[in-house]
Amino acid sequence: MFERLRNRYVIKGKVVMDAALHIGSGEESFERGALVVKDAYGKPYIPGSSFKGIIRSTVERIIPYLDGFKTCALIKGADCATVNEVKMDQLKERLKGDEEGEPIDLLCDTCKLFGSTAVASKVKISDLYVTEPWIGLFEKRDGVGIDRDTETSAEGAKFEYEVVPSQTEFNFEMVCENLDEGDKLLLSIGLREMQSGYVSIGGNRSRGLGAFQLIIDEVALLNFEDRKSFMDYLASQKLEKIELVDFIEEGIKYLQQRGGQNA
Ligand SMILES: [Zn+2]
Repeated sequence: MFERLRNRYVIKGKVVMDAALHIGSGEESFERGALVVKDAYGKPYIPGSSFKGIIRSTVERIIPYLDGFKTCALIKGADCATVNEVKMDQLKERLKGDEEGEPIDLLCDTCKLFGSTAVASKVKISDLYVTEPWIGLFEKRDGVGIDRDTETSAEGAKFEYEVVPSQTEFNFEMVCENLDEGDKLLLSIGLREMQSGYVSIGGNRSRGLGAFQLIIDEVALLNFEDRKSFMDYLASQKLEKIELVDFIEEGIKYLQQRGGQNA
């Protein structure tokens, strides 16, 4: 199976922390506490894969309310090749063939959009680096020490963890390819929730950490099937700017049409 390149959307903006952020690096000791992930220059960043996971889980929480959409939410045995061995065998067989198209009937809508073990994601998010000037400040918070033998909180043990302060900003860039109307709707929902500040990222979210707001500055489109759009891109490398609201409204319009069909 192969898929022609039909469209590419580039969405750029900023993530502004409304609360402190802790994305653990896995590096921790009782002397220094649990440290956050840092780039080669010692500055904090948000791994693109973490951010993608957050959009995905946001969409998975809302999909049950959308007529005609489904998600396996990675639950074993659900009706999607990612978690269903029979369907996965069918999918692998289909991928070997040389017909064109997407294995729509074998994957749920979120695996089709965000990828699964057998199919690449249509959504790529670059690592989100801190905007300059970065003031170079990390804060420490008190956590509860974990007893490594019993994996329960150790009595009286205090354990510090490092956080990136509230108001820190990160650069956001998401590139999506071959989105159909349904994909646009799902992504719009994820982006809207983030714009509204209802989503958090990183560790210790139950303690109020990781709240952020997504600010979208620019949405650009390259439509490979539109000759003028493609020629402009070849000549200038520039993509056509589109309005975010149009991107979102196309998705909503699609949901209305789809709802109408089901009714
Ligand atoms: Zn799935």
